[in-house]
Amino acid sequence: MSTYHAVVVGAGFSGAVMAERLASQRGWRVLVLEQRNHLAGNCFDKTDVNGIRIHQYGPHLFHTNKPEVWHYLSQFTEWQPYEHKVLARVGDMLLPLPFNLNSLYRLYPAEHAQQLEQLLIQRYGAGAKVPILQLKQTDEPELRQLADWIYQNIFVNYTMRQWGIKAEDIAPEVLARVPVVLSRDDRYFHDQYQAIPVDGYTALIGRLLSQPGVDVHLQQDALQRLKLSQGEIWLDGEIFKGKLIYTGMLDQLFAYQFGELPYRSLQFEFKQLDFPYFQTATTVNYPNEDTFTRITEFKHILTEQCNSTTIVTEYPQDYDKNDPQKNIPYYPVFTADNQEKFGQYKALAAQYPQLIPLGRLAEYKYFNMDDAVLNALKSFAEL
Ligand code: UDP
Repeated sequence: MSTYHAVVVGAGFSGAVMAERLASQRGWRVLVLEQRNHLAGNCFDKTDVNGIRIHQYGPHLFHTNKPEVWHYLSQFTEWQPYEHKVLARVGDMLLPLPFNLNSLYRLYPAEHAQQLEQLLIQRYGAGAKVPILQLKQTDEPELRQLADWIYQNIFVNYTMRQWGIKAEDIAPEVLARVPVVLSRDDRYFHDQYQAIPVDGYTALIGRLLSQPGVDVHLQQDALQRLKLSQGEIWLDGEIFKGKLIYTGMLDQLFAYQFGELPYRSLQFEFKQLDFPYFQTATTVNYPNEDTFTRITEFKHILTEQCNSTTIVTEYPQDYDKNDPQKNIPYYPVFTADNQEKFGQYKALAAQYPQLIPLGRLAEYKYFNMDDAVLNALKSFAEL
């Protein structure tokens, strides 16, 4: 019989926080099974040949308003302050994102921009963050025109490309992540804490997992070692009585018995360039390009001094478990139908009292990194 008190599947933020808590606060022995050959899930980062820290699975910029998350993680890393900036290329303009008053003045001549600014502030208040779908509801014709312009030029095509469905079919919370901001603040996030782990996310997660009592097995297909049947869990052919913290996809865990849950995947095209800088902001979004959504230049994050630079271009695509180019799930797809299907898997999971589905994939939620950490801390507290 296994001597482990818990098995954690997946060594991303959710799994690593849970493993750390169980080992350090409960004295449990924890086995972490990770299918990849590295820690940190999609937060995995490394230094490339030019000495630039890159994020293998797309840019990860830590930000939070949750002091408990900040203080918890600060036990495991030093931080480099960093405030993310994004520009949107529309025609030959580069507009600050989220669309804010600076964007407004770049878009329109000063007099017209001023008039719109006054209308916006009268209606919503200085500093307000107005979701684009809410702004579109306005009965003020000039604001309505502005809202339609932003929606058409920033959201419609990007969203279609990112999610593979129309902007009106995706849950409104998704577009509300990037509201129209009635201030001159050009930062992408406005959270109290914004920083990058000094030696990277992978090192941070490595420290979470280096607690006494935690064993990490990389390149392990957990589903080859685990079996779930009639309310019981089996590990390596023996009955397992501990907790199973599962951060993978629930449809896969339950052999797709209610059908596949849709996910979006991404292709990343990295380029190393022999000149110091490619663009003026860390990320430039291309809402109206044909095939890609954004380009990120990593050097802006830690400001490494070198004569070359590394960029990554993101090409969204459907997830396909059978295609090695498409088999990494990044985002659950937020539609009512998909939530309903997920509900069936969740009900099935509830028949296994030892099983705790945890994180973005297993809970089919659009967690940011800090949400994932808080969610894991809460889940530990409830255990
Ligand atoms: N979005 C958009 N245009 C943009 C930026 C964002 O339409 O230039 C929409 C799009 O649907 C996207 C969502 O807003 O999926 C959330 O954007 P965010 O930057 O938070 O996405 P993430 O970084 O999580 O991929």
